[in-house]
Amino acid sequence: MNYLSNRVEKLAESETLAMARLGNELKEKGVNVINMSLGEPDFTTPEFVKLAAKEAIDKNFSYYTPVPGYKELQESISTKFKRDNHLNYKPSQIVVSTGAKQSIINLVMAVINPGDEVILPAPYWVSYSEMIMLNEGKVISLATDYKSDFKITPEQLEKAITPKTKLFLFSNPCNPTGTMYSEKELRALGEVFKKNPQVLICSDEIYEHISFEGKMFSIGSIPELSERTITVNGLSKGFAMTGWRLGYLGAPQAIASACVKIQGQFTSGTCSITQRAAIAALNADPVVIKPMQEAFLKRRNLLISLMNEVPNIKVNNPGGAFYLFPEVSFYFGKKYGDQVIKDAKDLCMYLLNVGHVALTPGGAFGAPSYIRLSYATSEDVIREAVSRIKKALSELK
Ligand code: PMP
Ligand code: GLU
Repeated sequence: MNYLSNRVEKLAESETLAMARLGNELKEKGVNVINMSLGEPDFTTPEFVKLAAKEAIDKNFSYYTPVPGYKELQESISTKFKRDNHLNYKPSQIVVSTGAKQSIINLVMAVINPGDEVILPAPYWVSYSEMIMLNEGKVISLATDYKSDFKITPEQLEKAITPKTKLFLFSNPCNPTGTMYSEKELRALGEVFKKNPQVLICSDEIYEHISFEGKMFSIGSIPELSERTITVNGLSKGFAMTGWRLGYLGAPQAIASACVKIQGQFTSGTCSITQRAAIAALNADPVVIKPMQEAFLKRRNLLISLMNEVPNIKVNNPGGAFYLFPEVSFYFGKKYGDQVIKDAKDLCMYLLNVGHVALTPGGAFGAPSYIRLSYATSEDVIREAVSRIKKALSELK
């Protein structure tokens, strides 16, 4: 008997989480696996944030919180948006959720009707497409490649917009490519949006603090677009707080209120202790996380220089996040013994089982000729991983 709904049968497992699981399973069998599949900082949460959480426990912040988050936290986020991003969301327009992942699904549920088109510049983050499909929206994917640093052009955007386009959703800096659009590039895309007032824009800025080419620009700060831009952010990446589960969005009031209604039926507000810790994190000067940014920059430079020595793969020069997204199609059709590497998934399974490095295949991100490496790990581990990848690839005939 199959009790599962058609909806869940169609849903793909998150490929990032699946590859991390496979890597961990092999590790549990005693294999020395390097896990570069999951986008998770290896740093620990800053001490002052941990202290705020400990205080919250002692002060009995143990009751249900308001669904969109404590008022004080909404205020901190509203101030942070102004201070760091020139965004003008009032506290009532802020909704705090159990991770940015929930912020995005709340938004998708709040605005997508069956048949609505959502434009995703590809490569895009794994969960976007599944969330849209789950809500019967239609994914319109805009192809890019490493040669153009994975950036879409205004012409490409203009062509993709139809009367059915409801939402444009992107991450900047981007997971999985590390691409960061400049202010000038975003203003050029903004000109296209100005001509198409039916299109909402969602800017996922969770990698804001991991940017190597100056400060990230928020598209929602363009005055003509501010009334229809939803900005998503969270603590997972910038403050190394993945397990604490806190993300948030700022949105036009009607959309924010709809997200609160949805969240009130699904999960209520996120963890009270995490929310108190978030107030401390967001009120602090972002300079506190500078050492982490510097470490990521050194790692990026190291990884690029090492990967450039691996034959027949092509990489861009990512401006942010902690991912590299090499083009690997040269290796499709090659053999290891009797085993043929048909695609990026086969290549990742080969690199896991033979090279003992866990990576994520690009198909999950809408780019099947690529694989993703997460370099949220030490320089020594990066050196060892690339040496294993290079050796394993050299054994393919
Ligand atoms: N957006 C992007 C682009 C991501 O890479 C991730 C994964 N961390 C998320 C959103 C979700 O983050 P979280 O739920 O941990 O806040
Ligand atoms: N967002 C991270 C990644 O892309 C964590 C895994 C996930 O949430 O899917 O690897």
